[in-house]
Amino acid sequence: MIKNNRRKNHTDLECVPEGFANGVSPNYPLTDDQKWEMVDKAEWAYGEFLTALGVDWKNDPNSIETPRRVAKKYIFEQWAGRYNNPPAITSFPSDNYQGMVLECNIPLTSMCSHHHESILGRVHIGYIPGEGGQVIGLSKLNRLVEHFGRRGAIQEQLTMAIHQSIDKVCEGNIGVAVSIIASHSCVSCRGTGHRGASMITNELSGVFKEKPEVRKEYFDSITMANNLKDSH
Ligand SMILES: [Zn+2]
Repeated sequence: MIKNNRRKNHTDLECVPEGFANGVSPNYPLTDDQKWEMVDKAEWAYGEFLTALGVDWKNDPNSIETPRRVAKKYIFEQWAGRYNNPPAITSFPSDNYQGMVLECNIPLTSMCSHHHESILGRVHIGYIPGEGGQVIGLSKLNRLVEHFGRRGAIQEQLTMAIHQSIDKVCEGNIGVAVSIIASHSCVSCRGTGHRGASMITNELSGVFKEKPEVRKEYFDSITMANNLKDSH
């Protein structure tokens, strides 16, 4: 039985002001016409940007389409979460399951707000529905990662945004845990140029925070999932 199929309004899930790179755009969500209008504007502006950098892009066969390519890439791919509706989330009664629900190694593709360099990594999400709590379709966890990841991002804030959205959609939960492990091109391709460094952020609430044995089960389960990864 579906107990709760309300679609969460985007304002329920957002935690930074509209217009921020890690928030949604003004007039959100955009229609297809609005997106193409934005592509046209961004294309023009990116051409100006290349001109300012001394690129004769109008005569360079490799660069002539670049302003439009870049504009489309931002609006339809890398920053799609700023323009598209959040995923429709349906929650179900947990049928008395009161253990941990954990999905490991959700791929993360994002971009840092500071330098517009890539952030590539994995996300682990756990929650405990609690007595009478709600569970959601597993793939919705992946979709929420896509929704918040496909924007400008700061890993710490992205961790909080994903955590908050899970906390809100899994009504009645007694704890939510979100971990992100990611490498940042703004560290590997500029600045120090250090490759191979990873950043780990963990946001834990409820029993994950209060009970050491729950926290241990969470981190042990992630290790277990990664030990099993090569066997399936
Ligand atoms: Zn950066």
